Amino acid sequence: MKVLVADSGIIGIASAYYLAKSGHQVTVVEQELEPALGTSFANAGQLSYGMSSPWAAPGIPVKAMKWLVAKYAPLIINPKLTLSTIKFLFRILRNCTASRYEINKSRMVRVSKYSQQAIAEMVKEHDFDFELRSHGLLQIFRTQEQLEAAKKDMAVLDAYNVKYEKLNVEGCIKAEPALIHVKDKIKGGLRYLKDQSANCFLFANHLTQACKDLGVKFDFNVNIQKINSKNKKIIGIQTDQGDYIADKYVIALGSNSADILSPLGINLPVYPVKGYSITMPVKSDVDAPQGTLMDETYKVAITRLGDIVRVAGIAELTGYDKILSKSGDRITQFVLNDLFPKAIGKVSDDQLWVDLRPMTPDGTPIIGKIPYENLFLNTGHGTLGWTMSLGSGKIINSIVSGQTPEIDIEGLDISRYQ
Ligand SMILES: Cc1cc2nc3c(=O)[nH]c(=O)nc-3n(C[C@H](O)[C@H](O)[C@H](O)COP(=O)(O)OP(=O)(O)OC[C@H]3O[C@@H](n4cnc5c(N)ncnc54)[C@H](O)[C@@H]3O)c2cc1C
Repeated sequence: MKVLVADSGIIGIASAYYLAKSGHQVTVVEQELEPALGTSFANAGQLSYGMSSPWAAPGIPVKAMKWLVAKYAPLIINPKLTLSTIKFLFRILRNCTASRYEINKSRMVRVSKYSQQAIAEMVKEHDFDFELRSHGLLQIFRTQEQLEAAKKDMAVLDAYNVKYEKLNVEGCIKAEPALIHVKDKIKGGLRYLKDQSANCFLFANHLTQACKDLGVKFDFNVNIQKINSKNKKIIGIQTDQGDYIADKYVIALGSNSADILSPLGINLPVYPVKGYSITMPVKSDVDAPQGTLMDETYKVAITRLGDIVRVAGIAELTGYDKILSKSGDRITQFVLNDLFPKAIGKVSDDQLWVDLRPMTPDGTPIIGKIPYENLFLNTGHGTLGWTMSLGSGKIINSIVSGQTPEIDIEGLDISRYQ
């Protein structure tokens, strides 16, 4: 069967890989000249299988109000609110109850754990060098209040059988020795023992080659303009390089998915949430992070990838613009200097990066069929697209191939919004 996969972000490439392994004739269409130049390019590299959680959580509305006036806030909202931003915020709010959080988290953890298994299989099967580190993920608490709040998280982690350890300051330093320089700034941490970190861009490129070896055709520099349909069936994809015809179509266009699907009458709840990262060479190995951390106060991730450190964070709601705003990268720089003051040298502008997370209000991606006979979605992976990529690719392959997925797919498709 001929399958067209719309785009070569990490989600599209993972989809193409498993579809090709199932014996389908796969073509990937991508507007850029190379794979993974969108949001999959310079993310924080965290494989947060255990720390998979939706942003919408009890307590977030109050925190968000405080962030709006804080000097170093993880959330920035453009005051010129558009209707789609208001709608997104409203939908986020509706998901901030304890019961919604529980449901959403369970769906995310299901996909993430499946991905964890798939990464392990991939590592066994292929000799990819993608700077994988298995040091766990250390969530850093700076206040007593955060330590207390972590108790609730631990109950959830126990329920999902996630392996973790609660650490005092000495424990945090043992996990990340360079924190010795800032021990007075931290109160403790939670370490997700099985979480990992790795370079998403490198992996995406290795996987692209593996796809090519399986016969996948990649057409770069092709811009998808419209999906043509007739009687609730897709009859082709219109691009600036002509039409593409296939038997089945998988849409994995990240933040652009909603716009492309809208003329078909599909109201996809995927909103672009801007995030920032800085990538810098390590100046002093002993003073740099060895694995990956999450600073709970500022919601900033710091990850060691080979000889570099990447620091990433911020949720900026400002539509589709990818402008690097000073307020956006100020907080990431502040957190890195605050926790690892001796790790890196001076930051230059070419080390800064920005892109859009394809976010759903409930944090869970949208994977599965829609009411068009031969159209499938694999999008809306938000903050955790790297973590969930392989699991999502496997699921969409099973659905497209007419097989029963290996995990429960309840609540993953778009019908949960209808
Ligand atoms: C600052 C930041 C830090 C992050 N950190 C992490 C992390 O630590 N761990 C984690 O798991 N996730 C993280 N994420 C999230 C993760 O990066 C995303 O969820 C993931 O990259 C989404 O992948 P995607 O393939 O859906 O989208 P993308 O990678 O954006 O791919 C979409 C592709 O579609 C192409 N495209 C779009 N429109 C068209 C068109 N009309 N025609 C043709 N091609 C088109 C684009 O060129 C692009 O290549 C982070 C994100 C950000 C912004």
